[in-house]
Amino acid sequence: MRHQNPQPCIQFLGGVGTVTGSKFLVSLGSEKILIDCGLFQGLKELRLQNWAEFPIDPRSITAVVLTHAHLDHSGYLPLLVKKGFAGKIYCTPPTRDLSKIILEDSAEIQEEDADYANKKGYSKHDPAKPLYTIEDVRRSLRHFTVVPNSDWFKINDRIKFRFKPNGHILGSAFIELKIGTTKITFSGDMGRKNPIILNPSSSPEKTDFLIVESTYGDRLHPNLSPARELKRIINETLARKGKLIIPSFAVGRAQDLLHLLSQLRAQNDIPNVPIYLDSPMGIHATDIFMAHSKWHKLKNNEVDALGRIAVMVRKQRNSIEIAEKKQSSIIIAGSGMLSGGRVLHHLEKCLPDERNTVLIVGFQAASTRGRLLKEGIPELKIHGKYIPVHARIEEISGLSAHGDQKEILDWLKQFKTAPKNTFIVHGEPQASDALRVCIQDRLGWNCTIPKPFDHFILPN
Ligand SMILES: [Zn+2]
Repeated sequence: MRHQNPQPCIQFLGGVGTVTGSKFLVSLGSEKILIDCGLFQGLKELRLQNWAEFPIDPRSITAVVLTHAHLDHSGYLPLLVKKGFAGKIYCTPPTRDLSKIILEDSAEIQEEDADYANKKGYSKHDPAKPLYTIEDVRRSLRHFTVVPNSDWFKINDRIKFRFKPNGHILGSAFIELKIGTTKITFSGDMGRKNPIILNPSSSPEKTDFLIVESTYGDRLHPNLSPARELKRIINETLARKGKLIIPSFAVGRAQDLLHLLSQLRAQNDIPNVPIYLDSPMGIHATDIFMAHSKWHKLKNNEVDALGRIAVMVRKQRNSIEIAEKKQSSIIIAGSGMLSGGRVLHHLEKCLPDERNTVLIVGFQAASTRGRLLKEGIPELKIHGKYIPVHARIEEISGLSAHGDQKEILDWLKQFKTAPKNTFIVHGEPQASDALRVCIQDRLGWNCTIPKPFDHFILPN
């Protein structure tokens, strides 16, 4: 029988046709590398996919390599380990620290949801079970192995990879994977050209195949300075004697906001009202940010100012007290898409009053409360009640941690030659398609928008 060398393949197990659930499986013969292992979030039909049987036997996966810690890239790991994955999970040091708090928080939410469903008796399963528990998270954390720098790291004789910082969140990277003789580059979530507190992305070189995200593939961020916009919104809200509620992701956005607020305050651009970071995870992420000085661009005095600008609200009891107060203040609270967390009781109190402002600062997936507010919904359902929306709804999309169409294109232009194929992932369908058209027209590259579970051979 003629011996044939196996060809590398890629299969898209998540993170296509949506911005969540990223899981890209690269294989060469019996070797299988999973790039990211995210949870599906948002619409119920997406979330249900987290409960489906994993499409391959997790025991057959050699290793997982993580681009960054966000839940939609790391959140399925506890389940993967529970289902038998026994290999290593490679990541940068900040990704390891951030994944720990993100996964623990996720398990807590899963356990609370299951308890709640049991109490209310609305679960189809009896009793309702969490997707995974804190104990599952602890077990998965034992598989994490940090790679401290951007050097090539050998998984075995045929597979190596390296992390290149990409300016999306602390510790985030794009990944270059060499499998056999084929090089595949995964953009991860693309950062901004000039991130507020992080270093800009490293440049890519050359690759055989490219997997690129497209969250903002159909949009350009407005050319407004986030600091100036924030200053305007704060001053207008405070002039009306209102409160400013900023729903924010705990990791990244919250630290960007703290830095901008500390700068505005130092320049006397905003009045001296109380600022709260009302998010235990946000507080924890801020501590991790401050501990990893090599991974961001702030100077020590700027880090100190960032850490001092807000009252850190650790206890739920204090959070409720702050929500009851009528006094003007600035409150940063999770969750970022308003799907849960402490921001909900602030919104319940603040939305009916036209003096207040809700400031949207991040991507809002379809059908989330954040998206509904942006689209001008007159009443928002919170804790089973319809709350009238009279507060102003503002948005600073310039604070997004994702590059826009132009920023993605500028990053792609740095490749010295065109990849053989560019797979466009991690976007809602219209965003991915707009980026496809743009790459084909402007760069003349081959592009493919994979569908869930699509499988491609990647010949060298
Ligand atoms: Zn991300």
